[in-house]
Amino acid sequence: MSKIVELSDILANQIAAGEVVERPASVVKELVENAIDANSTQIDIYLEEAGLRKIQVIDNGDGIEPDDVLNAFKRHATSKIITRDDLFRIKTLGFRGEALPSIASVSEITLETSTGENEGSFVKLSGGQIIETKPNALRKGTKLKVENLFFNTPARLKYVKTLQTELANVGDIVNRLAMSHPYIAFRLVHDGNKMLATTGNGDIRQTIAGIYGMSTAKKMLEISGEDLDFKVSGYISLPELTRASRNYLSIIINGRYIKNHLLNKAIVEGYGSKLMIGRFPLAVIQIDMDPLLVDVNVHPTKQEVRLSKENELMDLISHTIQSVLSEKQLIPRADLEQ
Ligand code: ADP
Ligand code: MG
Repeated sequence: MSKIVELSDILANQIAAGEVVERPASVVKELVENAIDANSTQIDIYLEEAGLRKIQVIDNGDGIEPDDVLNAFKRHATSKIITRDDLFRIKTLGFRGEALPSIASVSEITLETSTGENEGSFVKLSGGQIIETKPNALRKGTKLKVENLFFNTPARLKYVKTLQTELANVGDIVNRLAMSHPYIAFRLVHDGNKMLATTGNGDIRQTIAGIYGMSTAKKMLEISGEDLDFKVSGYISLPELTRASRNYLSIIINGRYIKNHLLNKAIVEGYGSKLMIGRFPLAVIQIDMDPLLVDVNVHPTKQEVRLSKENELMDLISHTIQSVLSEKQLIPRADLEQ
């Protein structure tokens, strides 16, 4: 008798969830990224108990056709790529078709969606099993509600930290998503308290002000630079405005917030001797490049990427920062006081 059997879909999804759904912040990230991919201009996020009791993301994006609603919860099912070539030219934040089935397998999830043309849909799942589907009236867009995260995976629930820590993690990821998408109005509300609201008017400095405060935003300098392969733009803090950690460095490649210690290093190098040891600037750096130069399919959370021409990009970042900072020394500070 054979001993090797294929895992059930639900079990396979729970195993994938181990990688994709680490904590409430990972759920928020995946749901908001889906809303961004759906061309939303307004994304509202409501949390209860740091997201452990409830995470609700409401967008005004494209919505999902009734025929596709159940496909969205199938493993490796996506509307974002079809061919192998697409995989090397990713323009969307999602493409692995993993998030919804993974999240659904470790929570109770309710999806309401409408493309604004046909009748909308409602579907509810618990622990990955479909409990209810029905037609639903809704304006164009999608409402996703995730309740009782990890209710059926006690080991994962134990790993969750204090509500304060989990909430800080959600805040951090929403801040970075908002800075990556200044043309989208974001709102984050926790237990009835507004934590963040951005205007979505496209102005990154205003988005930074909404996140780090107006006085910080005023001490940020605009940068921009390009070479044949890359275009770098964004804001960096004056050398006098520093923090004790690298957490305030945000690097965004083609609209995707990523983590990359070499690019962080390039930012710091751009300041040369202007920074004290152990101090780091604040920076929001947008990098545009041909998607062929960046492999985003490195890790399920897609925050790590592999870059071709990494050294060239590091040099461009450092030099762009260096030249802006040296220009600024010649100009009296008064220009920043408006
Ligand atoms: P991926 O984002 O990698 O495609 P997901 O599991 O996150 O995979 O989502 C599956 C599919 O469900 C997406 O490809 C998309 O077609 C659809 N979808 C999910 N969320 C939304 C949303 N907020 N608006 C419109 N479509 C959505
Ligand atoms: Mg997705």
